[in-house]
Amino acid sequence: MKALATACVAPAFLSVDASAPGPSSAAFIVTAHRKPWTRRRTSRRSIGKHSASAAAGAATASATPALPPLESTVVVEEILPDGRPPLLSLSVEELASSVGGTGRARRIWEALRKGQLPIDIDDSTEKPLSHRALTRLLEATQLLPYEVINETVSACGTVKLLVRLRDGHGVETVIIPSEKGHSTLCVSSQIGCARACRFCKTGQMGLMRNLGADEILAQVFFAHRWVRESDGRTPPIRNAVFMGMGEPLNNPRAVRRAIQTMTDPFAFGLGRSHITVSTVGPSPASIRLLEDIPVHIAWSVHAARDNVRRLLVPTTVHPMTDLRDAFADMLIARSNKHQGPGRFPKRYLNIMVECTLLDGLNDSREDAEALVELVRGLPGEPKVNLLPYNDIGVPGYRRSPEAKVAAYLECVREGGVMCSVRRARGDEDMAACGQLATTAGLG
Ligand code: SF4
Repeated sequence: MKALATACVAPAFLSVDASAPGPSSAAFIVTAHRKPWTRRRTSRRSIGKHSASAAAGAATASATPALPPLESTVVVEEILPDGRPPLLSLSVEELASSVGGTGRARRIWEALRKGQLPIDIDDSTEKPLSHRALTRLLEATQLLPYEVINETVSACGTVKLLVRLRDGHGVETVIIPSEKGHSTLCVSSQIGCARACRFCKTGQMGLMRNLGADEILAQVFFAHRWVRESDGRTPPIRNAVFMGMGEPLNNPRAVRRAIQTMTDPFAFGLGRSHITVSTVGPSPASIRLLEDIPVHIAWSVHAARDNVRRLLVPTTVHPMTDLRDAFADMLIARSNKHQGPGRFPKRYLNIMVECTLLDGLNDSREDAEALVELVRGLPGEPKVNLLPYNDIGVPGYRRSPEAKVAAYLECVREGGVMCSVRRARGDEDMAACGQLATTAGLG
């Protein structure tokens, strides 16, 4: 949940060769040992090939309890015109039935979580799949009907990847390295966003369409591949946050399914406690959907006072106290629901409350006091995270001065609520929160 842009004005970094041919499924079958995509790289740093630290993103295989079963497997819109579903739309179990065995399916997913396609295993320590297994895989699925068409690296090491999807739309995903030796992936859940937050570049795009679960997972795969090829410059992906383009709760089915695969120890194997869904909280009904998505939750409040909130997030319909109560009910319900072996750790009761501070709009003492009042109605130990606004050139929307941010922080802490200020990353290359956007069609 963040950014925006106009469909008619493409930022400079989005310039692409729209006439370049996309991946061909036929080529996959005939030339199974050729790379199915061709990369056009425009990053500002040269990136080395095939790091020995390819374990980047390797499964942590944490023993987290399984998510509740999904109602359906592959949905119609994920099936490509030739009838084969994309590989990333299949769980390990579903893939096993397509390729003839769980062992084969796990080997394929092992390659994927290392940022490799199963037909491209080039690590001498890895045993390639048999010809028979590859043939079955290529007959049953489309390997990768998306491609990275632009890569941008900020001075701070933040990486933005522009992914062209099977219908020509583009979606952005951002890798944010940390000094602690791991990276956080900022994942998009929609192309554009219907919430229309006035300060956000994605909101200015409007909603073009939801992403399929496979298209969300493609961002994870390409991030692993970037890390693999970065020669250790980008640390492995450990965390994923749904804070890219789109509102996750407006695309809950795909988000839930993607999280299931992201946290499957035999698929991408990310720890559930390392995943955060960030939502503006469209409605109490949508907030209740989080009950069955057992990851960390961040609520992008932006303003606690109803009149200010409606100014910043014009699609807001419900009073903030109603939304707050829905979050409280959801957190308590999911805590009670998941007793026994699959029980949520206590920390899942806690919620992160995020507020983007805008100069003169929502950064007064009165705003801070209203936020404290709102947050006090949440269970557990909610924490407030103040976000520095990343300028996208909207007149009247500027980052709050440091003195005001400090005063706001102090006021929230005086109110007995934990509060911190997040450091801005990637804003010089429009890779920061609220700055993601793509054109309507990339060719
Ligand atoms: S919810 Fe608001 S901030 Fe998040 S992506 Fe949508 S328009 Fe942007």
